[in-house]
Amino acid sequence: MSDMYPDLEGRVAVVTGGSHGIGRGVVHHLRGAGMRVASWDVARPDDDPDLAAADLDVDCDVSDEEAVAVAVAVVEKELGAATVLVNNAGVTRGFAPAEMTAAEWDLMLGLNLKAAWLCARATLPAMSAAGAGAIVNVASIHATLTTRGLFPYAATKSGLVGLTRSMALDLAAEGIRVNAVCPGLIDTPAVRGRLDSEEAVAAAIAEQPLGRMGDPLDVAELVTFLASERSRFITGAAIPIDGGVGARLSTI
Ligand code: NDP
Repeated sequence: MSDMYPDLEGRVAVVTGGSHGIGRGVVHHLRGAGMRVASWDVARPDDDPDLAAADLDVDCDVSDEEAVAVAVAVVEKELGAATVLVNNAGVTRGFAPAEMTAAEWDLMLGLNLKAAWLCARATLPAMSAAGAGAIVNVASIHATLTTRGLFPYAATKSGLVGLTRSMALDLAAEGIRVNAVCPGLIDTPAVRGRLDSEEAVAAAIAEQPLGRMGDPLDVAELVTFLASERSRFITGAAIPIDGGVGARLSTI
């Protein structure tokens, strides 16, 4: 049994986008806390010997209402009803506001915002029945302040923090807590795809007050804490985990 998180032992969690990156770190950490974990992802899981894989990988586009309904039924049958949900799957892209198409808007908002509600809606009945549950949404430091070139990513993540607050208030009476984490630069396949040269990586690290990118396991620690009873008096919060980037004025 986990000394840190005895209440998580044997319970079931769903992590969206758990095949790699931050989601895979969260899967690893929740499994270490004794949870049975399902990952809902469109990608196959990484073959990483250092990170525990999910107990159950469900091929699921979390922005697709029907796919989510199927996935929740598969998890209930295979592992039992989930009382922890980590909405992590997301896409980081920026478009020119004057050129972005409505279809691209729907794709971004569908994955980064609507999917969090769809997955919550599908898992809430079991949490209500249990009289307890925790939802953790992976937002971003861009929910608060942003940079050029990240339209509408910043809007999707601000929206996700708003969704977190609303759901936290509406679900508190049922014993269900809803929080968000707001990561800064975390070393994941998605980030490595954007920082595609040694120079780009070095320049990004030079901007980090703590002198490094975050590791998916840094974020996973916080997510696990928020999933557990150790955070029992925290709900509706959006907690930065950004190595200090959000504390800095970059123009002075
Ligand atoms: P990754 O792209 O490395 O991992 C995301 C996972 O989600 C991938 O396996 C991806 O599959 C999967 N996925 C994509 N679309 C869907 C979908 N429709 N349904 C189910 N799964 C899907 O991303 P990160 O780990 O970097 O980011 C995870 C979350 O953290 C995102 O919400 C991101 O916005 C947020 N975040 C990340 C930061 C960072 O610096 N890394 C900073 C702040 C926030 P595939 O690879 O095939 O696309």
